[in-house]
Amino acid sequence: MSRSPFTRPTRRDFLRHSALGALGAGLAGQVLGQDAPVPRIEKRGEMVYRRLGKTELMVSELAIGGSPSPEPAIFLEALDRGMNLVDTSAGYGGGEERIGEVLQGRRDQVIISTKCHPYRMEDVTAGIIAACETALGKLRTDRIDVWCIHGVGGPEWFLRDDIQAAYDQLKQQGKIRFAGVSCHQDPARVLPPLFESGRLDVALLALNVFSGNTVRPEDVKAGKVYDNWLADSGLQGVLDSAKQHDVGLVAMKTMAGGALQRPDAYQADGSTLAQAKLKWVLSQDAVAAALSEVLSYAILEDNLGAVGKTLTAEEQALLREHVRERSASVCRMCGACQRACPAKLPIPDLLRCITYRDEHGKPTYARQVYREVTAAGPLPDCGHCTACAQACPHGVAGRERIRATRELRA
Ligand code: SF4
Ligand code: SF4
Repeated sequence: MSRSPFTRPTRRDFLRHSALGALGAGLAGQVLGQDAPVPRIEKRGEMVYRRLGKTELMVSELAIGGSPSPEPAIFLEALDRGMNLVDTSAGYGGGEERIGEVLQGRRDQVIISTKCHPYRMEDVTAGIIAACETALGKLRTDRIDVWCIHGVGGPEWFLRDDIQAAYDQLKQQGKIRFAGVSCHQDPARVLPPLFESGRLDVALLALNVFSGNTVRPEDVKAGKVYDNWLADSGLQGVLDSAKQHDVGLVAMKTMAGGALQRPDAYQADGSTLAQAKLKWVLSQDAVAAALSEVLSYAILEDNLGAVGKTLTAEEQALLREHVRERSASVCRMCGACQRACPAKLPIPDLLRCITYRDEHGKPTYARQVYREVTAAGPLPDCGHCTACAQACPHGVAGRERIRATRELRA
């Protein structure tokens, strides 16, 4: 009898699979130890599943979703190949409706995560509950596995009493199973208090090879291009805190700096740049799953090639070169520029809009996010200010880039 994709592996399961590839090899010592804990990881077929923190759900290393959501046939192929974590949002241009349609008859094979924006709701508790009920209808289901606040900009945007009241009611009614957030910006400040609160089960976190590496202008001169930025940026602390508090992490924005995913690009050691990026993200053991946009069969095959594999030295070199080439174009969402901005402009979010348009080929979504980001009113003129350019450690922020975002006003 086949087992549910959500069940936790038994010790026997793990022993059976632990010899498989580098994954098993890397954990063999733990398995052989007398008192070693059973690792919460399992290979079944061509997919590897990891434990999603305290939810105890076993999720596929590769998650599917994003905006736009993949074509139905590609989506179903991804499920057939073992992907079981589906991520969407009310803001993903019809993504929930599309996924609801595709999942007819297959709901029980997947774990669904979706999100709402409570930021402009008048009655936040009632608004979140109504948003969840709308999402249930669109997804054609009676429960959402991970219900998230989208894009939390501060701990209060999850921990507020009125937000927690909504979560409590939705859980009591059986409409949601676990509480989540997505965090695009300044995670070192935003996420640890949520982990420590004990109220959060899952966090979707912007994490990619640019988060872990940096090429500051002075580094280039010194020939140093692959340092310990993960620690310097505070992100290592976020990963460690998630592990300590057993919060499941799902990595978003895994393809940063890529232009569109091109399976033929940057071949190294028989693999591609996209595979190297996924392997880097999945090498962080706090991470349960990595999201990427599977918009073609070629991308699906390419991404599957990263499952259960270890980053090679050649791929590390490839990533190093890629980071060197693209460093000054990729925002790490650290928030340093925003903290320095006298007008307190949402600079990382504005830059994210430009990335959606120019690198992801999503002009409509870029304009939609721009409208949301600037909903409070038009942006003031930057004048001769250079504060963000001086504050950004990577040479990304600057007045000209902020001006360029105004092209998205239409
Ligand atoms: S240039 Fe504009 S966005 Fe940058 S810090 Fe100054 S006011 Fe803010
Ligand atoms: S533009 Fe620079 S300072 Fe601002 S969030 Fe991005 S990386 Fe950080």
